[in-house]
Amino acid sequence: RLRQIAIYGKGGIGKSTTTQNLTAGLVEQGKHVLVVGCDPKADSTRLLLGGLHQKTVLDTIRDNKTEIQLSDLEKVGFKGVRCVESGGPEPGVGCAGRGIITSISMLEQLGAYTEDLDYVFYDVLGDVVCGGFAMPIREGKAKEIYIVASGEMMALYAANNICKGIAKYAERGEVRLGGIICNSRNVDNELDLLRAFTKELNTQLIQYVPRNNIVQQAEIRKKTVIDFEPNCNQANVYRELAKNIDENELFTIPTPMTQDRLEQILIDYGMMEKDYSI
Ligand code: ADP
Ligand code: SF4
Ligand code: MG
Repeated sequence: RLRQIAIYGKGGIGKSTTTQNLTAGLVEQGKHVLVVGCDPKADSTRLLLGGLHQKTVLDTIRDNKTEIQLSDLEKVGFKGVRCVESGGPEPGVGCAGRGIITSISMLEQLGAYTEDLDYVFYDVLGDVVCGGFAMPIREGKAKEIYIVASGEMMALYAANNICKGIAKYAERGEVRLGGIICNSRNVDNELDLLRAFTKELNTQLIQYVPRNNIVQQAEIRKKTVIDFEPNCNQANVYRELAKNIDENELFTIPTPMTQDRLEQILIDYGMMEKDYSI
């Protein structure tokens, strides 16, 4: 059965990097995976495609020159992973969220969701602050959500907001939260903080991903870490994340917290008391 997964999180937190590295881990294990980038930046698949510039679904629809084929939209990358970039509306015109649904409908029409697929991943821009970016959840296209966060306040604030959106749709639909991925920013006491945060949210910390420059070194070569340096520790962390998602059985309706409670957790676990008087 096809697992339909969306990755959310604050802008710049590492959604695209983490998604591509973990899908590299899944295809290595023989899984059949489709990645659909849902960010108008269209940078969700470049590490899997070796930097190949991919024409987006929305640009292809706009050009509307010939009849669109699946091969116009879908490119095959690292170890057979299938890659699509949804793209965005013309700047200043149209709703980006609606564009995502237009793209997914086009993929459905063209038969992209084949029987052999194990996973589809949607790498979705930013925090769910509007109905537009909650579209894949609302329309039942994503059933399983993972949120990328770090110990930084704004990342946790965004994660908590995303959970408010998930909770709303979970009550009358199938969508569930599968866990939080900590993409470390080397904040004080980050692991304890994330553990406390996930517990309060009624979910789990599915993986701790250390901050490591190898990620940028691979990125410059337009590769995932798994492709660039397959034997390094960071590559193994991404493989572990892939395995944890593959074997995950904990799917919950999140219990988002108030701003006051979030700040209290930050004070209790995150920011260690330091004596600045000396
Ligand atoms: P998002 O998709 O959430 O906007 P990206 O995946 O584009 O974020 O990541 C933003 C930047 O952070 C990228 O340049 C990426 O190389 C870097 N990055 C992500 N994760 C790590 C990590 N674990 N260690 C070091 N750099 C990272
Ligand atoms: Fe943009 Fe969201 Fe408004 Fe759509 S609903 S136009 S994505 S802000
Ligand atoms: Mg991104």
